[in-house]
Amino acid sequence: MTKKLIYNGTVLTMNPDRSVYKPGYVYIEHDTIREVGEWPQDGSKQALLESASWVHDAEGKVIVPGLVNTHTHLFQTFIRGVSDDMPLAQWLRQIIWPSSLAMEAEDFYLAALIGCIENLKSGATYIMDHHYVHTYPENDDGVLRAMEESGIRGCMARGGVDLSYEPKLRETEEEIFANTDKLLDQWDGAASGRIEIAMGPLNLYGCSRAFLEHAAKYSERRQLISHIHVAETSDQIENTKARFGLRNLELLEAVGLLGPKTQVVHGVWLDDGELESIARAKASVVHCPVSNMYLASGVARVPDMLKLGINVALGTDGPGSNNCQDNLEVLKFTACLHKVNQLDSTLLPPMEVLQLATVNGARAMGRERDLGSLEPGKKADVVVVDLRKAHISPVHRASSALVYNANGNDVDTVLVNGQVVVEHGACTLVDEQEIIRRAQARVDRLRAKLAPEYPVFRVVE
Ligand SMILES: [Zn+2]
Repeated sequence: MTKKLIYNGTVLTMNPDRSVYKPGYVYIEHDTIREVGEWPQDGSKQALLESASWVHDAEGKVIVPGLVNTHTHLFQTFIRGVSDDMPLAQWLRQIIWPSSLAMEAEDFYLAALIGCIENLKSGATYIMDHHYVHTYPENDDGVLRAMEESGIRGCMARGGVDLSYEPKLRETEEEIFANTDKLLDQWDGAASGRIEIAMGPLNLYGCSRAFLEHAAKYSERRQLISHIHVAETSDQIENTKARFGLRNLELLEAVGLLGPKTQVVHGVWLDDGELESIARAKASVVHCPVSNMYLASGVARVPDMLKLGINVALGTDGPGSNNCQDNLEVLKFTACLHKVNQLDSTLLPPMEVLQLATVNGARAMGRERDLGSLEPGKKADVVVVDLRKAHISPVHRASSALVYNANGNDVDTVLVNGQVVVEHGACTLVDEQEIIRRAQARVDRLRAKLAPEYPVFRVVE
């Protein structure tokens, strides 16, 4: 059995006591954490060092549970930075829809692979990919293959929309459920359990009421997580009010989609009653602060949600509206956004922000028993971040350094399911530079294809 040891660094366990070991160690057997604690200063450390076949001296580094990126759209790495400075509806129409339709199966694979690499290299070991472009049957397989090959832990929320959206991206209910059946059969539990499938109706404004109701029943029958964009912009509130006479959460509840396995993505425009409904249902909210700022969607009421005991997890959102996948950057944005929004600097201290990105992320994914913290018996999803950098050191508190100073470039080594997938800043399972080269060539083709009709894709600089 492979045994691995990470030692001599500061361990932020994120266990229920929030134990910190300085210096500490994490001892791993196969895919599971066996020991976590103070790094012994007596002879017993020799026995630990000798028994492990892979060791990592983490002096000057911090060891944390892998972050959970609870909302992204990996395919959008191909679209990031096409054009900034647009509101959501215009951004969808002018950038996301045309490029989604022009992308081919190979593009979805390469785009997702770059996204997986970026997530791993910025500290996320577990991602929720809301994938809603099913123009070719191979698109889904490409995204899932990228997760498998990169070594990341990933869940695909099978996105679908049937009523009001770009017509070529709409599908019938029958198509959506048949494809979800197929994905569950072929992929759920694949790659030693690293890959999962969830249900992902795209949003409340583009889906018919019947589809939402059937999606709720399907999720319940198959015991799936339901992942859905809710109340992202104020327009969406007006839309459901006009169509159904209901606010967003009222509609979600009315169709049966609000429960402990529900992930309410964004949840920016929610009133007190809606927050109480989420708390009562024990649903999770996925907060994507960078995307909400980039698209000027609004500020989610995260401090109020936390006061009500709502499980708030974090996401980058797709690279189309972020524009990166830097999971460490999201920590700082989360803390700063809510402090300035409420003019209260005591809100969201570093350990609480880390809790959202680890423990709460795992809980949102229904995996709090085996992920989200560094504790014996849990899966070995571990991230080591190097703090010996001019923009971080000297270090007083590792949690503060991690949230406010470090960025994705400081991630040194990453293990997922006990496997080393990033070591000293380099991917171990895939050739990053070769993938970037292939992706750039495909994106150049894509731009050439779109430029005649969409000026935004013309090269101007
Ligand atoms: Zn999204």
